[in-house]
Amino acid sequence: MKPSISSLIEKLTKTHSLSEDEYSTLLDEYTPEIAEELAAQAVDVRRRIYGNEVYLRGLIEISNICRNDCLYCGIRRSNMNCARYRLSSEEILACVEAGYPLGFRTFVLQGGEDSYYTDDLLAALIAEIKSAHPDCAVTLSLGERGSESFRRLHDAGADRYLLRHETADEAHYRMLHPSSMSFRHRMDCLRSLREIGYQVGCGFMVGSPHQSNVTLAKDLKFIEQFKPDMCGIGPFIPHHDTPFRDDPAGSVSLTCYLLTIIRLIQPNVLLPATTALGTLHPEGRELGILAGANVVMPNLSPADVRKKYELYDNKLSTGAESAQQVDELRQRIKAIGYTVVSCRGDVRRNADAS
Ligand code: SF4
Repeated sequence: MKPSISSLIEKLTKTHSLSEDEYSTLLDEYTPEIAEELAAQAVDVRRRIYGNEVYLRGLIEISNICRNDCLYCGIRRSNMNCARYRLSSEEILACVEAGYPLGFRTFVLQGGEDSYYTDDLLAALIAEIKSAHPDCAVTLSLGERGSESFRRLHDAGADRYLLRHETADEAHYRMLHPSSMSFRHRMDCLRSLREIGYQVGCGFMVGSPHQSNVTLAKDLKFIEQFKPDMCGIGPFIPHHDTPFRDDPAGSVSLTCYLLTIIRLIQPNVLLPATTALGTLHPEGRELGILAGANVVMPNLSPADVRKKYELYDNKLSTGAESAQQVDELRQRIKAIGYTVVSCRGDVRRNADAS
């Protein structure tokens, strides 16, 4: 007999753990009423750890050149229509200098897997950012690298690393990636980052092709067991130059439901309301925060390259999504009862929200 939804909700909020089958049931039984009830609990849990603070990250998209060919990605190697660019160390430092007076105290360097960014180059760049702004955190989101490389960059001062696992189901992973990419290697990278001492982020797209509630349940179980410090999830949005161009976009409400569940699995997780949510819904960012998210990540990249970092169609990089308009973002977040704060915004450990 299937457990009742109310007993599942009670178990999740008390123990922060369900079986894969139970996660799957929680997803199968989704209704707006259940989502609302769970979101109220997620918001309460988050308030006890983070108050009403929302953390700010400045996203610097350093390169759209990538050696990989992920089937869902607009900057995949085989997309010949993509106008490629990479930023020099000087250009990246200029973005940091532009962001600091705007209140940014975490800089996220994100890019494709571009061999131009050697360990030497990145280590020098990270050291320079940290020496100019010792009160800031540096987050890297540069894909898979070797463990020695991860270690070098951590030694240079990098604090956090985001590497979406994309799916915790190996067969599903193979449907989203070319055979040259390996699910096991992705998971090994995540474990290696953790061992080295990074604050580690994983994540996945909601509504990616071939995803099901069974694969999503595996993602939730993986998150429960891996205990990431950060978790980036956003709706899948197709890009017109990829094999998934005709697949439908993911659902904003299911994304919000998953944000809520992830908050309840791991109360202290840093959970961004992603750009993809804001792209699909004019109030996507706010909906994400009201579902349990507590991080926003506006774009600090030079204005002339923002359109070129097109992971999916119509990706937002203007308005409240632009770092230069951070005041608009602050106002919008304030209007729903939260405060965007200027601090590193580290994960709070040993926080008791149970
Ligand atoms: S998802 Fe990341 S690794 Fe894959 S092609 Fe795009 S930029 Fe490269």
